[in-house]
Amino acid sequence: MTLTESKTHQLGISLNNADDDGNVDENIKIGLEIHCQLTRLDTKLFCGCFSNYRDIKPNENTCPICLGLPGSLPLLNKKAVEYASMMCISLNCNIPEKITFYRKNYFYPDLPKNFQITQYNSYELSSIGYDGLISYYNEKVESDSEEKSKGKTVRIKRIQLEEDPGKIIYEENNSKINNYCLIDYNRAGVALVEIVTEPDFRNANDVRLFLNKITNIFEYLGVSDPNLEGAVRCDVNVSVKGGKKVEIKNISSFKDVEKSIFYEITRQKTLSMHEISVKSETRHWDEKRKITIPARTKEEEDEYKYFPEPDIPRIVLGLDYREKIKNNMPELPIERLKRYVDIHKLSDHVSDILINNKKISDFYEESLKIYNSPKEISNWIVNELLSKTNELEKDESPDNQSNKHRGFISQVTPQQIADIAKLIEEKSINRNIAKDIFGKSIKTGESPLKLIKNVEIEKIQDSETIRRYIGEVLSNEKHLIEQSSTNPNVANFILGKIMKKTGGRADPQLTLKLIRESIEHK
Ligand SMILES: [Zn+2]
Repeated sequence: MTLTESKTHQLGISLNNADDDGNVDENIKIGLEIHCQLTRLDTKLFCGCFSNYRDIKPNENTCPICLGLPGSLPLLNKKAVEYASMMCISLNCNIPEKITFYRKNYFYPDLPKNFQITQYNSYELSSIGYDGLISYYNEKVESDSEEKSKGKTVRIKRIQLEEDPGKIIYEENNSKINNYCLIDYNRAGVALVEIVTEPDFRNANDVRLFLNKITNIFEYLGVSDPNLEGAVRCDVNVSVKGGKKVEIKNISSFKDVEKSIFYEITRQKTLSMHEISVKSETRHWDEKRKITIPARTKEEEDEYKYFPEPDIPRIVLGLDYREKIKNNMPELPIERLKRYVDIHKLSDHVSDILINNKKISDFYEESLKIYNSPKEISNWIVNELLSKTNELEKDESPDNQSNKHRGFISQVTPQQIADIAKLIEEKSINRNIAKDIFGKSIKTGESPLKLIKNVEIEKIQDSETIRRYIGEVLSNEKHLIEQSSTNPNVANFILGKIMKKTGGRADPQLTLKLIRESIEHK
């Protein structure tokens, strides 16, 4: 095979894998390890240092416990166990009666203790969650009627609670050798939940949908804000045609997760096409070059020499723990969806759009509290607000839906949406004028009510004002009164004149009624 042929083949493979039509390649297996920080906690997992390390000077958010100094003892954050349990329940995992922490031993500069406190299921089932299952929709498949109700599911192997390591910051220069790196332990000890899936994904698009779905759930639970830098990181493992599994480590954007999968599938297929066997290895995602590169040789599980953490006793949650947590959980997106469809009588489609972003859903709920009209309010949010915002921000990366819509939320308030919905329902302004006002409101940040006043497009419903206009017309064209007794169209003719004078703002029914009264009394 010539080089060109090989490249064409490679391109062919790449296109096949692009899988934008929802095609499934059964030869591909993709599994995920998602690390999600519990960013809503006040403190770290085993000490009183702040959970939010982001705005603190390097190495100032540390204490003897998270630095692992001799004599210090970890104290488990109870809230972290509760938050992690909520995540387990939302992904339909079991929670064991007892949980145990283990030491995972390895030497790496980001780990001040030279071990990480984590969970381990080899000796006993002791991680906070196991055997879950969650369904997610492939929107592109969803539009196909045959596939519509199928959805897709992924099995969750386990969920474990562990501490985040510190951060290594590499020297930025152009030489190939890094002479030094900087270490910041502010993040060391922050509570992290690791979610391990079975290799149930077949393409990158599904992975992206799944990640969006679960991070949305975590936002609803109020345990984690996925928009914070580094709050959600993924390891991805990919194997093609029953070949060896390759793990790509520590990717922090969902867009890059998707790209790295495309790249890795193409790489592995090309290797096997040339009869070169794929090595089982760990690779890194090079964000700049958009390729995966080999990483340090990965330790085998037994090289970590796991043993139970002697400083934390086994924690007995009890048999009814899951039920207790479940009963006090915030409303999940799926529950909210059901409420929108069943009680608010919104369509599946509209409800889906609303719940897919907690900020938008909350915005809808806030607007409803001010003016209770689910149909009108949802219509304004979905058909005007979101479509306008999408138009305005079309060239922005779609990677982060929340960021994408943050713009409008800062400009338009629930009060404004409620006001405009009310004006429409009370027929104070017509829909076209309202839309116009709305577009301006999003661009300028001005309140719709103020804009309406500014351009004086409020409907004229005041009888006195309308009578004045009628008087003006009749005094200029006195013959109209005479004609009115024989010609029934005169009233409409006068109405036309008044509409022209008022720029269409006069209430037509009221005006016509008043015209008839005036003509009869003359
Ligand atoms: Zn600390």
